[in-house]
Amino acid sequence: RELPGDPRTDSIPREVLHSCYTRVSPSAEVDNPQLVAWSDSVAELLDLDAREFERPDFPQIFSGASPLSGGMSYAQCYGGHQFGMWAGQLGDGRAITLGELVNSSGHRWELQLKGAGKTPYSRFADGLAVLRSSIREFLCSEAMHFLGIPTTRALCLVTTGKYVTRDMFYEYASLPHLENLSKSESLSFSTGEGDDSVVDLTSNKYAAWAVEVAERTASLIAKWQGVGFTHGVLNTDNMSALGLTIDYGPFGFLDAFDPSYTPNTTDLPGRRYGTKFMDDYQAIMTKKLGLSKYNKQLISDLLKNMAVDKVDYTNFFRLLSNVKADLTIQDDELLVTLKAVLLDIGKERKDAWTSWVKSYIQELSASGISDEERKKSMDSVNPRYILRNYLCQSAIDAAEQGDFEEVRRVLKVMSRPYDEQPGMEKYARLPPAWAYRPGVCMLSCSS
Ligand code: AMP
Ligand code: MG
Ligand code: MG
Repeated sequence: RELPGDPRTDSIPREVLHSCYTRVSPSAEVDNPQLVAWSDSVAELLDLDAREFERPDFPQIFSGASPLSGGMSYAQCYGGHQFGMWAGQLGDGRAITLGELVNSSGHRWELQLKGAGKTPYSRFADGLAVLRSSIREFLCSEAMHFLGIPTTRALCLVTTGKYVTRDMFYEYASLPHLENLSKSESLSFSTGEGDDSVVDLTSNKYAAWAVEVAERTASLIAKWQGVGFTHGVLNTDNMSALGLTIDYGPFGFLDAFDPSYTPNTTDLPGRRYGTKFMDDYQAIMTKKLGLSKYNKQLISDLLKNMAVDKVDYTNFFRLLSNVKADLTIQDDELLVTLKAVLLDIGKERKDAWTSWVKSYIQELSASGISDEERKKSMDSVNPRYILRNYLCQSAIDAAEQGDFEEVRRVLKVMSRPYDEQPGMEKYARLPPAWAYRPGVCMLSCSS
């Protein structure tokens, strides 16, 4: 039966007013789909046996080529603000929800294919996702999960074997992958993590709902900032009401600290946020420094110093946990621990850093926390491994040549970001010179 909006029989993109969703089936052309990478830990969440990944028909199912029997797939309609302006009706332009699943722990997950073809909300785009942006999204959403940051996740990444056109060049294959397994229960706030987050719908329900969404978002952004992550496209269609990271486009992790960093060439002015964000951010920074209470002066002096000397954000904090709360250390010895992240700084800057480390040690010794205990706590919030853009790019370059091993290796390293992983030190290195070319350090939304 022909359904309006079904892209197999009806290819006209249109506004779909007064509706929450439209039934739609995956329609991307598929020719010998291949499994690029998969997540055993997401499989576990779905009560899926890891041996399923080896099934010959697995890529067929997750490329959308073989429908799930009994399924009723649909795309959602929503409106929102983009770049600070009301953008009218939007919708899932290339995401198709396959259904929801309640796992054996009682948690509800929504399952979508991303890039499986057009929907009535595709407007004039093709409904597909290219390999490059899908590798970025898959690797980063897993990296974020293992950093402890709320996020949508993907079960796997599958190429369709087809090519699509983007920007000025041709890129390899489109790829439907399973994404956005958000703990979504439409607009209610039961997250499966206890009752504290359930909004009381009897009083001021819409205001309470909006406040809850705003606060979750603020907390999320504070967490991003703690690990030096920037999303790049903070439009409301890219925000989950549940406070999960969603729709990874031109995101980036900071390398050299730069408070005005944005990875997106098309949103240079950036977005701002209020007090809830600040409370959470201050708590996170306090923990990153291993302090027992927030110290505004100490933290802002540190960030200023880091910005002046373009210090690597991740490696600095990781090394900082080795500083000993020892007031007897001589001035000319104070920077020894941090030497590896304070390269090439002149005499004047050395003095600035020495004076900062001195105040830091004073604060640490006043806190009464032992060096050992503090290091343990700091290392649990300051990652050793983050998904630097150049690591992603190397994995993409190899994958575009048909070699998926690097994608799988990066995925593995990023699944234990806070652990020392002997033999994997190269994944903690600073970006090489080629990483600063446009398209690696700065990206646009086009994907
Ligand atoms: P984004 O910049 O990824 O948040 O996309 C903005 C809107 O465009 C969303 O509603 C997407 O569903 C839609 N969109 C993005 N890329 C495509 C695509 N290749 N085909 C169809 N719709 C898309
Ligand atoms: Mg989006
Ligand atoms: Mg997107």
